[in-house]
Amino acid sequence: MSGHGAHHPYSGTKAAMATRHGKHQVVGPALAEGVGLRLVLAEDVDTDQLGTFTGEIPRRGTPVETAFRKARLALEATDLNCAVASEGSFGPHPVAPLLPCGQELLVFLDAERGLRVVERRITPTNFAHHTSTGLDAPTKAFCDRVGFGSHALIVRPHTAVEDRSPLLHKGIQEPAALAEAIAECAAASACGRARLETDMRAHLNPTRMQQIGILADGLAARLATLCPACAAPGYGVIDREGGLPCGLCGTPTEWHRALVHGCARCPHRAIHPRDDGLTRADPAHCPSCNP
Ligand SMILES: [Zn+2]
Ligand SMILES: [Zn+2]
Repeated sequence: MSGHGAHHPYSGTKAAMATRHGKHQVVGPALAEGVGLRLVLAEDVDTDQLGTFTGEIPRRGTPVETAFRKARLALEATDLNCAVASEGSFGPHPVAPLLPCGQELLVFLDAERGLRVVERRITPTNFAHHTSTGLDAPTKAFCDRVGFGSHALIVRPHTAVEDRSPLLHKGIQEPAALAEAIAECAAASACGRARLETDMRAHLNPTRMQQIGILADGLAARLATLCPACAAPGYGVIDREGGLPCGLCGTPTEWHRALVHGCARCPHRAIHPRDDGLTRADPAHCPSCNP
């Protein structure tokens, strides 16, 4: 039940987004095209009060909770009924710990209709860190790997020395500035090394911005789909169910067997087959016949 912008319940409705990192530039067009929502930037909302990537302010709660808090702040700042918020988290890949993994969330809150929609996606990311004393070959290789230049870096002392104000350079995109920051932070570090980290703020991380754009298309498609029971926008996949049976021995694998579609407002649920139509798992993933 895909809606067309002009006839969708959200056509012409304003939605607020609080972002200091330009995310509205990719989220706005997707929501406008998908359901006719008009994104309004919620000025003067300091989303950093809910935590920063660089750790000056620790994050509390789950990423979904944090995202809904951001959405609430945007509602309060604008007096609108709808808000969108984004939240990213980064760390080792759950299945392949040597690879970095991103999780991006977009949440949509409609206070008038009582709707809460969560769209999430595991994403590729350049998330990484490196310790260094200068622009040597390993450091240059690290810079190449994480797309330094188009993607910014953060530099700080690798081993913080107490009784000194914490040094932290963010948003570095030029080699000269990087060399200077490394020298300064290495000199201020107890171990004589600087720590380089990828800057994960979306406006300084095009990989992330692109993924947020893809997620925004997903959110728009979900909002365009109305609940078959109550007609609320935002009907879509809310869970995965079961273990897809092994093609050889039938043991349930870690692959999901079915998708659970659900409403963002009422309790309506429906079980759907996998998007790829698979009914049997590759025995290579079987915990029983191929351990
Ligand atoms: Zn419903
Ligand atoms: Zn098997």
